[in-house]
Amino acid sequence: MGSSPTFGSMSFKFTKNSDGTGVISTDHGEVNTPVFMPVGTAATVKSLDGQDIRGTKAEIVLGNTYHLFLRPGEKVVSEMGGIQRFMNWNSPMLTDSGGFQVFSLGLGAKGDALSKIDEEGVTFKSHLDGKLHRFTPEKSMDIQKDLGADIIMAFDECTPDKIERKYVRQALDRTHRWAERCIRRWQENDKKSAQGTSQALFGIIQGSTDKEMREEAASFIAGMPFDGIAIGGETIGYNMEATQEVIGWIKHLLPKEKPIYTMGLGRDPQNIVDIIKCGIDMFDCVAPTRLARNGALYYGEIRGEKFESEFSKGRLNISNSQFVNDKSTIMEGCDCYTCLSGYTRGYLRHLYMAKELSYYRLASIHNVRFMVRLTEQMRERMKMIK
Ligand SMILES: [Zn+2]
Repeated sequence: MGSSPTFGSMSFKFTKNSDGTGVISTDHGEVNTPVFMPVGTAATVKSLDGQDIRGTKAEIVLGNTYHLFLRPGEKVVSEMGGIQRFMNWNSPMLTDSGGFQVFSLGLGAKGDALSKIDEEGVTFKSHLDGKLHRFTPEKSMDIQKDLGADIIMAFDECTPDKIERKYVRQALDRTHRWAERCIRRWQENDKKSAQGTSQALFGIIQGSTDKEMREEAASFIAGMPFDGIAIGGETIGYNMEATQEVIGWIKHLLPKEKPIYTMGLGRDPQNIVDIIKCGIDMFDCVAPTRLARNGALYYGEIRGEKFESEFSKGRLNISNSQFVNDKSTIMEGCDCYTCLSGYTRGYLRHLYMAKELSYYRLASIHNVRFMVRLTEQMRERMKMIK
């Protein structure tokens, strides 16, 4: 191996200001909060390279442990210098635990369960080749150590909403025992990546849509030596009203000095406005890039307390025939590379209809920058109100 770059001895640190904004310090740089994290599932924010991501002014990217474990394998990423260097992004990253995918992708074509859970861990079939694999809390910690993200997540069981209370109880108790095992292994691993940089570990509050269990989970996870707290579950991000209700139940139980992260949230621009008002510091979502690939481009702005747009759900559908001869950019006032460079709606529509590869990049740049910018604007408002 060649010489490793020196990142200094800086460790994970979170400073939260009285106005609600904050800064997370990691060995790979600083992250201003509240922050929107684009998702780079397979060590790539789909269709964007490191330079493109920097252009959107995103400050931290999320990678998926399950996908990287299957392909190219965590040892390859580790030997390549860790995930930040591997994808030539060289800035802060977070990896999830693999738990969510092990359960959600662990369903066969007929909806039959391909994953089997026991006290020790989960056995699951790869969605790529059907091979059997096994994750335990310890294994998830070790894989994430190799991947080398600045923030890693505890291995948990993401319970669906419509499920028997008895099962939610069982799953929650198991998730808490797994949280303890994750902390132990993380400490044994010296809270460091295989590349020698600091790794912060976040715990995850589950408990489905049950108030009592959410409160219990919040107290339990908040009482453990995690560096940050995430709120997970099927509801979170998917159903915004229910997400706000869950946060309302547990808010008083959450530590003020640790970053709070809602997992999988950030599909609609209004979600960003709402979740920041709830006091949340971090959120991630695959939607901006996925929607871009499907022809949906964000459009609109915050007015007062609301996000307003002349297009429904805050996005225009580029395939619409009204854009054929449209010489304007996606959105006037947008400072993304695509809009600033002058790419017209008419041209983007043509690329989209012809399935030209450059469309995916130009559209994803706009949507990611849009969410990052919205979050920046919310931060500015918080600082002004102060
Ligand atoms: Zn734009």
